Amino acid sequence: MGDRLREVCIRFTRSTADLLQEALRVPALRYLEVHCPFDAPLECPRLPGRSPSLRWLRAGVYPLLTALALIRQCAATLEELELVAASTDPYGCPDLGEALRGCELRGLRKLTLLRATVDDTPCRHDELTCREQRLRLLFALKGVSACEVRCNECGTRTFDELLRNVFSAAAREGNRAS
Ligand SMILES: [Zn+2]
Repeated sequence: MGDRLREVCIRFTRSTADLLQEALRVPALRYLEVHCPFDAPLECPRLPGRSPSLRWLRAGVYPLLTALALIRQCAATLEELELVAASTDPYGCPDLGEALRGCELRGLRKLTLLRATVDDTPCRHDELTCREQRLRLLFALKGVSACEVRCNECGTRTFDELLRNVFSAAAREGNRAS
């Protein structure tokens, strides 16, 4: 076994702050999935001085501010982010776009909103609020990162496709009203 460990992937379905902190100490950690149950909110871990070099993160934790703190810590290297979040009033974070913009995710290529928790409890989600949320996210992240924003329920849309959808929906509403 001469191979050196290059990339580590860790998955917690019921994490605690201590477990998460231990994981973040692993230098080769590149892929991290972390969840916690709604009735056992996760505290923001006391992170080590060195930022973890995560490339991929899937987070379904309460409160969402803990996930944001984690995202901020690994913003420099993060390429893909999957976030369990409702399309209306995501837990503890009234403006997800602003919050993510503040994380400075310059290398982010893909943001996926997951509409169910790890134990398959659905998050509040409907097509209209989802579209609005994704548009707001695209606006907020514009100029910071050139990432696509998708929802695991509704699929991928580019910025232009989303705008076109909004306008055609508005036109249909207009036709119906007249
Ligand atoms: Zn959706």
